[in-house]
Amino acid sequence: MNRLFDLTGKVALVTGGSRGIGRAIALALAAHGAKVAVNYAANAAAAEETARAIGGEGAAVTLRGDVADPAQAAALVEGTIAAFGRIDILVNNAGVTSDDLVLRMSEAQWDRVIDTNLKGTFSVTKAALRPMVRQRWGRIICVSSVAGIVGNAGQANYSAAKAGVAGFAKAIAKEVASRNITANVIAPGFVDTEMTRDLTDAQRQEIVRMVALGRTATPQDIAPAAVFLASDEAAYVTGHVLTVDGGLVMY
Ligand code: NAP
Repeated sequence: MNRLFDLTGKVALVTGGSRGIGRAIALALAAHGAKVAVNYAANAAAAEETARAIGGEGAAVTLRGDVADPAQAAALVEGTIAAFGRIDILVNNAGVTSDDLVLRMSEAQWDRVIDTNLKGTFSVTKAALRPMVRQRWGRIICVSSVAGIVGNAGQANYSAAKAGVAGFAKAIAKEVASRNITANVIAPGFVDTEMTRDLTDAQRQEIVRMVALGRTATPQDIAPAAVFLASDEAAYVTGHVLTVDGGLVMY
């Protein structure tokens, strides 16, 4: 990736940074000079591989922790500060799906998706805001989804969580604007990751038909938006929901 902005001296925590979109964002932030804490829930090997791919002496650490657990979420921010002395950029990317029609959806499915995607975003952000307020600079970037904008049948839990994330980010944007902290949302469309690997070819073709640019996204299509929103140059962009979806949803 060509270097777009300079993040030298900045420290980022990317939740769910070990695989998929989070991995691409972690690599992109590091390629622009940031030091990166790569969070993961269970797959240590993937996180270590991502940290190795970032390379460079002391450029990355891996942090295990479940964002759905408020204590573990707060520990991720503490771990980032313990490793690098500060936290400037938080990318709330960790997410899960548990799809079903509402009529069949269990309470456990609802809770798991809300707790990881929405409550996890709240818990990690809450912990990160205190040091950001103190240093009077911060970037909160939440990875939502177009499902949170237009809804997706079979994903009521996920759509609700992702819409909630956008509302949360807008409220944060207002709460901490005076401290030079911005909060923005990236809403990807369909991205080829392990999250979407179980879709059938027919389902995939159906989605591609609706994408103006005529293809699904790679994680690398999403990452530059995070680099921009993390930069000094994005200082006047806050409370924004940026779709990165090839023209799947236009509004
Ligand atoms: P993915 O490939 O399944 O990767 C998910 C990542 O999140 C992994 O690093 C995983 O860690 C981590 N994670 C899961 N649960 C966690 C938890 N409770 N605590 C901490 N980390 C956790 O997913 P993806 O497709 O890259 O999705 C990343 C984000 O983009 C999600 O928020 C997703 O909703 C959003 N999104 C995805 C798409 C898409 O089409 N793929 C579209 C729109 C939005 P482990 O490796 O340890 O499991």
